[in-house]
Amino acid sequence: RPVIGVLALQGDVREHVAALQASGADAIAVRRPGELEEIDGIVLPGGESTTMSKLLGVFDLFDPLRAKLLDGLPAYGSCAGMIMLSSRILDTRPDARHLDVLDITVRRNAFGRQVESFEADIDFAGITDAPGAAKMRGVFIRAPWVEEAGPGVTVLARVPDGPAAGRIVAVEQGSVIATSFHPEVTGDRRVHEYFVAKVRR
Ligand code: GLN
Repeated sequence: RPVIGVLALQGDVREHVAALQASGADAIAVRRPGELEEIDGIVLPGGESTTMSKLLGVFDLFDPLRAKLLDGLPAYGSCAGMIMLSSRILDTRPDARHLDVLDITVRRNAFGRQVESFEADIDFAGITDAPGAAKMRGVFIRAPWVEEAGPGVTVLARVPDGPAAGRIVAVEQGSVIATSFHPEVTGDRRVHEYFVAKVRR
């Protein structure tokens, strides 16, 4: 079983640990630079990206984590984790740092006040397009959307309908995947399985 770390400074760490374990990986919490040496992949959970940014500095993890990611350590970021991985952030604090390993522009809290949190049944490329596969329940909680994706980025999912129809909410680039939504809270393990399979390759 591959060993996958969950960045455990802040956010919904336990849910990701459980989802990874149910998806064929051994999951460990990562709080120290040395723990980066023990893992084959890493999940950046949902939470609050500006706080996560601050804590990455406090725990001396920012630079070692970024170096590992640039070195090809597979990563999956959900919600705040997507924001942390991205190259450009709209509507963040001026002092917030981000890891800059995913060529997308994200807008924080993009869906606005009326629909701060919502759910939608989405199509996810490579997962829900399998014969007989059900759509995926996307749970969005003060979620970002991807405002712009660079040429090397594959779009995996978009908002299906409503005022934000067509907005990009899942992407992949090289060893990195990211979703605006939270599959770790639904019991649907398919995104985590997709990531574990990616780590295995
Ligand atoms: N709004 C949060 C942020 O900006 C993300 C919310 C989440 O991870 N559920 O970091």
